[in-house]
Amino acid sequence: MPESTAGLGKRTVRDLELAEGERVLVRVDFNVPLEDGRVADDARIRGALPTIELLRAMRARLILCSHLGRPKGPDPGTSLGPVSDRLGELIDAPVEQAPAVVGPEVRRAVERLQPGGVLVLENTRWEPGETDNDPELSEQLAALADAYVDDAFGSAHRAHASTVGVAERLRPAVAGLLLEREVSTLRSIVEAPERPLVVLLGGAKVTEKIALIDRFLDTADELLIGGAMCFSFFRAQGEPTGNSLVEEEGVELARRAVEKSESSRCELLLPLDLVLGASFDADAERRVQESTDVPDGWMGLDIGPATAEAYGEQVARAGTVFWNGPMGAFELEPFAAGTRAVAEAVARASGTTVVGGGDSAAALAEFHLDDAVDHLSTGGGAALELLEGKQLPGIEVLDDA
Ligand code: ADP
Ligand code: MG
Repeated sequence: MPESTAGLGKRTVRDLELAEGERVLVRVDFNVPLEDGRVADDARIRGALPTIELLRAMRARLILCSHLGRPKGPDPGTSLGPVSDRLGELIDAPVEQAPAVVGPEVRRAVERLQPGGVLVLENTRWEPGETDNDPELSEQLAALADAYVDDAFGSAHRAHASTVGVAERLRPAVAGLLLEREVSTLRSIVEAPERPLVVLLGGAKVTEKIALIDRFLDTADELLIGGAMCFSFFRAQGEPTGNSLVEEEGVELARRAVEKSESSRCELLLPLDLVLGASFDADAERRVQESTDVPDGWMGLDIGPATAEAYGEQVARAGTVFWNGPMGAFELEPFAAGTRAVAEAVARASGTTVVGGGDSAAALAEFHLDDAVDHLSTGGGAALELLEGKQLPGIEVLDDA
């Protein structure tokens, strides 16, 4: 992948000058799925390893913190204990699990840490002040350490105590390596992409993606639409959509996007054919429709084979590909072919390939193609906001380069 020209503009962990044993609070994204008290998918933990290993090599004392799930208070089912166990295996060194987020026992655990040692605080959402960006909690977190590193890209769009409040009170405050890579890769897509820039957008809701559609109509060369959101476009054009998922508020937005595309450099492509189902069900009656008309009693649940092929050709000739949102209801095997075909085309593409979004990442993983793309973003909402051109509070607050 070419080096990004769109820099982060913030100091990073590489710029830190630490004395041996200095305490560094690192906000990581350990919001991982747990099953039977174990980590079911450790991708996010592995994503944080470069920053963790660098700080250990610098002989810092590491204090890691993250949220996990959405608990409203202390809740053993969302303890970071299983994450600490897995992290210990990955770095092949002891990792201590603190009993709380802040407080006297946590301070004592920090005192006991050796240079290069690692302590994981409890789930930040066990503290009600976390999501309120509470000054007192922020102060207590800041008092634990001598420096702050933010490596939690997936939380950078939220102004919480562990992402913003603490960074306002603790200097230096710098970016971790994962955060740096995420931001510079995603920014380069809109600011300096290798052309043609081909963007594939799918998923359920136009209203969630309209800001992105708008931005890419200004910057992309091809915008390929799939997923349920195509039906808002078809409805806007007066085509029959049957029982397909149509978001009423999305129809007018879709109409305006089509209008904008007429005077834009960007070509907006809609599906040419569909796979229909009698209901949202893997056992439902299924048929391929060679047009995009959806008769009464049917719903469009996937793009058809001609669309998959046309989109695949665009992806193959792209200099840069960005993909967000499945092309159909891929969780139902009979309606997964369009998403699978597009995922395979992205995996094969010679251009730079970047994928963002929770369900798109899940689809790639299901097809075992997650290692075949250049960059799989760990931050769903944060990635979309960054691409829309919004400032992310967790990044803004860090020290300027
Ligand atoms: P991401 O998480 O990658 O941003 P979204 O959350 O926007 O993606 O969309 C994913 C959801 O969209 C999936 O649950 C999928 O089943 C649904 N979806 C996609 N196409 C259709 C369709 N034609 N009909 C119903 N649901 C669909
Ligand atoms: Mg989703």
